[in-house]
Amino acid sequence: MRPGATAPVDAFLRRGVDFVLAGDLRTLVRGMNDLVGEPLVDHDELERQVVARDREIENPFGKDAQVTAIHGARRYRGDRLIRTAAPHRLLDRAAGPLVAVRLHVVTRKSLGGLETDLSARVLRPDGEPLPGLYAAGEVAGFGGGGVHGYRSLEGTFLGGCLFSGRVAGRAVAAAL
Ligand SMILES: Cc1cc2nc3c(=O)[nH]c(=O)nc-3n(C[C@H](O)[C@H](O)[C@H](O)COP(=O)(O)OP(=O)(O)OC[C@H]3O[C@@H](n4cnc5c(N)ncnc54)[C@H](O)[C@@H]3O)c2cc1C
Repeated sequence: MRPGATAPVDAFLRRGVDFVLAGDLRTLVRGMNDLVGEPLVDHDELERQVVARDREIENPFGKDAQVTAIHGARRYRGDRLIRTAAPHRLLDRAAGPLVAVRLHVVTRKSLGGLETDLSARVLRPDGEPLPGLYAAGEVAGFGGGGVHGYRSLEGTFLGGCLFSGRVAGRAVAAAL
């Protein structure tokens, strides 16, 4: 509830190898480009976007869908008081410094690939089990979808992976 970042966040800001801090946008962009060794970020284009975004944040009658959603979410008192920074202009010097974070792309989901039956046996294209091959977890579609179907939510994938692993283990033990 106090101003400023918590200690772990502050440590990331000061010592994180992927973090760039600056007092103004031009210095920030220079730091971002220096970090990756290529002029990937164009200052003028970024400034155009930031200024456009700041204009919407300040406008109480704005129609920007994301800004409207932020204002809607903040009607929940718990978030308004504790969890989130109050919406403000990015270029508001009083709210500085500006922070950029280098992102790394990872593969988040494979959504399966191997079709299995209820005993976790891998099926061939003709629908017959491939003898001796069992699959569970992400590769069998249980890390998203799977037992939860179209209603799967973030956070429910590991359970389906573990469950399908248990099914596969039991099926293998029974077959042996
Ligand atoms: C960033 C991220 C966040 C997530 N957050 C959540 C969450 O909050 N809650 C949740 O429920 N789920 C979450 N998930 C999904 C969940 O973590 C995965 O669905 C689950 O861990 C998949 O388990 P798995 O054993 O099927 O596959 P994996 O954990 O991917 O295991 C496969 C293993 O096989 C190994 N391997 C690959 N090829 C070979 C080879 N040729 N020879 C030998 N070994 C090999 C790999 O190194 C790996 O160790 C998240 C996934 C990601 C990526």
